[in-house]
Amino acid sequence: MTVATFAAATHLHAGKVRDLYALGDGTLLMVASDRISAYDFVLETPIPDKGRVLTELSLWWFERLADLLPHHVVSTELPAGAPMEWAGRAVVVERLDMIGVECVARGYLAGSGVEQYATTGAVCGVGLPPGLVEGSALPRPIFTPTTKAAVGSHDAPMTYADVEHEVGADLAAQLRVITVEVYRRGHEIARDRGIVLADTKIELGRRTDNTLVLADELLTPDSSRFWPADGWSPGSPQPSFDKQFVRDWLTSTESGWDRYSGEPPPPLPAEIVAATRGRYVEAYERVTGRRLA
Ligand code: ATP
Ligand code: MG
Repeated sequence: MTVATFAAATHLHAGKVRDLYALGDGTLLMVASDRISAYDFVLETPIPDKGRVLTELSLWWFERLADLLPHHVVSTELPAGAPMEWAGRAVVVERLDMIGVECVARGYLAGSGVEQYATTGAVCGVGLPPGLVEGSALPRPIFTPTTKAAVGSHDAPMTYADVEHEVGADLAAQLRVITVEVYRRGHEIARDRGIVLADTKIELGRRTDNTLVLADELLTPDSSRFWPADGWSPGSPQPSFDKQFVRDWLTSTESGWDRYSGEPPPPLPAEIVAATRGRYVEAYERVTGRRLA
């Protein structure tokens, strides 16, 4: 398949981590930067190779799950005229009509699920047994969708009935089945490689003929919680595989930063950058069994 050139591309979207360009032939160029966010701030210090790691990891998963669902990747070749430094971090994808629901599956109690469970005994309307603590494995993976909030605001939990109302009963049922199955397969593969995949968020879109297609990124540390399996110990927040050094340093007295001050975080020291880069590379290498080129 020939790929459109970058010459007439228009910048469509700047996210916290990725930029999207329309190439003019119905495809998009999705470019993953090395930006990292923590505590809802995009940090001023990039993590070298992070964009490449997340891009390669998503591609690996898309191939792994291709029997379940088509994915949006068209080409990994850099379109003529695109900046050379985007090689390895840019992917040409089909431009889809994105579904307005963030499809989340969880296998463990974490994050916003902890507060929802504490106050209601349920997460996104899915009732759970009593006695679970932060980090507990759930009896089975559950579908816990959220709204797709505009940049700057937070995604809000949705019940299954909310999703049915938003997209119709047929599509809601498909989203639930697909999301839970992607999570199950991801969890099984990651577990064999020493990583607990606690939850994941996927995004789906439709072609003009209505076919559902897996889009965005897939089963990366940015879209999912990766926990080191040997450190899994329910009862408190679990260490995150990738961002733990960043979070620990930012909240230490050494950084001099107050999380609740509203001030942006300070630049990261070189050793925190190096350790974090190492963790992203390790996640990639552990999951895929490949070396990062
Ligand atoms: P945030 O900064 O909160 O992550 P975001 O999710 O909008 O915001 P990115 O993840 O950086 O930012 O950008 C990716 C965007 O591209 C998302 O809005 C996603 O829905 C959209 N997207 C992903 N794949 C496709 C596709 N194949 N067709 C159209 N849009 C897509
Ligand atoms: Mg996103």
